[in-house]
Amino acid sequence: MVTETRSPEETYALGEKIGKAAQPGQIYTLTGDLGVGKTVFTQGVAAGLGITEPVSSPTFTIVQVYEEGRLPFYHFDVYRIGDIEEMEEIGYDDYFFGNGICLIEWAELIEEILPDNVISITIEKDLTQGFDYRKITVDGL
Ligand code: ADP
Ligand code: MG
Repeated sequence: MVTETRSPEETYALGEKIGKAAQPGQIYTLTGDLGVGKTVFTQGVAAGLGITEPVSSPTFTIVQVYEEGRLPFYHFDVYRIGDIEEMEEIGYDDYFFGNGICLIEWAELIEEILPDNVISITIEKDLTQGFDYRKITVDGL
């Protein structure tokens, strides 16, 4: 499924829709360059799950846990991971194979431990379409 958005609000709204429909145990991967809108999208997903506390990128921790929504929400940012062992150390499988929702930014860095049935989301710019244009591809829904 491809969705084109032309404002942060539209990207947020798509995230919100996906958050509302999310089922226990689903894992979403989020791919895209810096500044493309991964955090905006993630904030929408969190809102869709009923989370009201502010969501930002977990810069200094690999995973940020939000418990207040309809389902537990595990927001990963593995950008700074040095070794896959760091994922073992945080006990990632409890999150991946639990009943909450995982959303993983920079998941391509931990490909080897990702289950097969993830839903992958890619956000891309296309400057020929304008500065605020984003093409968002959702695969596996
Ligand atoms: P990332 O987390 O991928 O590094 P952010 O979500 O933090 O990116 O930032 C995206 C930036 O792009 C924000 O400043 C946002 O206002 C801007 N922006 C402009 N158009 C869009 C759009 N269509 N979708 C999402 N963000 C957009
Ligand atoms: Mg971000």
